[in-house]
Amino acid sequence: MTEKCFEERFRDVEENYKVITNRIAEAAVRSGRKPEDITFLAATKTVPAEVINHAIGCGLRFIGENRVQEFMDKYEKIDWDKGVSGQIIGRLQTNKVKYIIDKVDCIQSVDSVKLAKEISRLAEKIGRKMPVLIEVNIGGEESKGGIEKAALPELLEEIAVLPGIQVNGLMAIPPICAEKSALCNYFSQMHQSFIDIRAKKIDNVFMNCLSMGMSSDYAEAIECGATMVRIGSSLFGPRDYTR
Ligand SMILES: *Cc1c(COP(=O)(O)O)cnc(C)c1O
Repeated sequence: MTEKCFEERFRDVEENYKVITNRIAEAAVRSGRKPEDITFLAATKTVPAEVINHAIGCGLRFIGENRVQEFMDKYEKIDWDKGVSGQIIGRLQTNKVKYIIDKVDCIQSVDSVKLAKEISRLAEKIGRKMPVLIEVNIGGEESKGGIEKAALPELLEEIAVLPGIQVNGLMAIPPICAEKSALCNYFSQMHQSFIDIRAKKIDNVFMNCLSMGMSSDYAEAIECGATMVRIGSSLFGPRDYTR
């Protein structure tokens, strides 16, 4: 792929932003909700800060990075003053929490007590309660992060007591499915867990955010109950990993 000049990328992002926002709104209404009930988070891995800022200029307010190093490299260049929320959506090593603890508004990829304890410890030190999502490996895939759905109750019980953390919901990346019905089955299972946990009214566990759905399947995810979608390539174009 030849590198497109920024002007061209900016135009694409503007157009894509409108298309995605409309599709999100339509899917929200189809699922009996309001467009503003769904949060559009942009997955910004490999995307230069200039392009991210252009999307922020279009109205984007939530961005998610996968890797701590990349987040730190772009951090100073992002237009945070527009009221933008930065979140971690990729696998997070315990020893890297210290770099991002004062810079992010949510960590979506919590999948162990060890990681949760470190987030809590460092958040407490700076007087914060860090919102987190528990990542669920809904397809039981070895290559992916997240905990098995069956292990959720026990993990929640252990994490809920940590003083520097607030559990705000669940995150999932389902397996690639050839059939839409199989995909919707995974999304619906996540939504059911979300509802079941909420009904338990566990102290310090809030089910406000169900983060699922990416470029290829965000409309389906919303129809199955997602409250947040994480969109990369549909907004920014194909990723260039060679940069
Ligand atoms: C890259 C990524 C996305 C977005 O993927 P697209 O298919 O490009 O929309 C969403 N969530 C996570 C965790 C990602 O790493």
